Amino acid sequence: MSEIEIPESHPRYESLLTRHRIEAGVEQGITSQQGLIAHGRGEAFDYLLGEETIPSADEAARVAAAHLLRADYPVLSVNGNVAALVPEEIVTLAGVTGADLEVNLFNRTEDRVQAIVEHLEAHGATDVKGLAADARIPGLDHERAKVDADGISDADVVLVPLEDGDRAEALAAMGKTEIVIDLNPLSRSAQTAAVPVVDNIIRAIPTITEHARDLQDTSDADLDAIVESFDADGVRAAAEARIRGDSLE
Ligand code: ATP
Repeated sequence: MSEIEIPESHPRYESLLTRHRIEAGVEQGITSQQGLIAHGRGEAFDYLLGEETIPSADEAARVAAAHLLRADYPVLSVNGNVAALVPEEIVTLAGVTGADLEVNLFNRTEDRVQAIVEHLEAHGATDVKGLAADARIPGLDHERAKVDADGISDADVVLVPLEDGDRAEALAAMGKTEIVIDLNPLSRSAQTAAVPVVDNIIRAIPTITEHARDLQDTSDADLDAIVESFDADGVRAAAEARIRGDSLE
């Protein structure tokens, strides 16, 4: 037994634990009601992917790590689902890659931003951005456009897990290199991303961290080679094929 009253041997242990964390996130004021719906949608895709990190997702995670290490200023965007599911893991990834964390919400309320900042701090984060909200992403309505001037607005590489399609497109239009974690390879976010990681965030964040540790001492030229040889369309096609059952891998 661990966080929930279900034995770890239960065949759906991971999935039930994840649901429990999302529910707890809603109770703590971290996750929104819409976050529950987004989670349900993600679960369906995860089921079809076999609830495992497929080879193309692992490859994308390695490229994501190379981008974060090579960036001038990388920022990891955190929403209510991310904070509920992988608070410790995202703080670790920020530490390993030298990235900043910024709370960035689709349904923004000051209370929820504050609750998430405190939740991340309780898991070891310092200097979490998102409260200033003193810059805007062009092309979005006021509330959804808010970001920090010295955070996402200034970043060259942004990791946006579980982002909504509109904002993913608007960030890409600003010229940022966008790494998206999304279980749906057909979502607009995954379609827009320079690096789509089609995997559950529960697995994807630790996988990117592991690759970042492996690549820590790699030269800039070798990191550039990893980034440049990446085929985002191939990764999206491989994930879609896995879901449709005519797997390419
Ligand atoms: P888009 O606007 O990008 O076309 P959407 O409208 O489906 O997509 P939302 O419903 O706002 O976007 O976001 C939910 C997305 O997050 C879904 O694509 C879902 O697959 C994904 N998702 C949900 N939970 C997870 C998770 N744990 N790990 C990875 N992705 C997830």
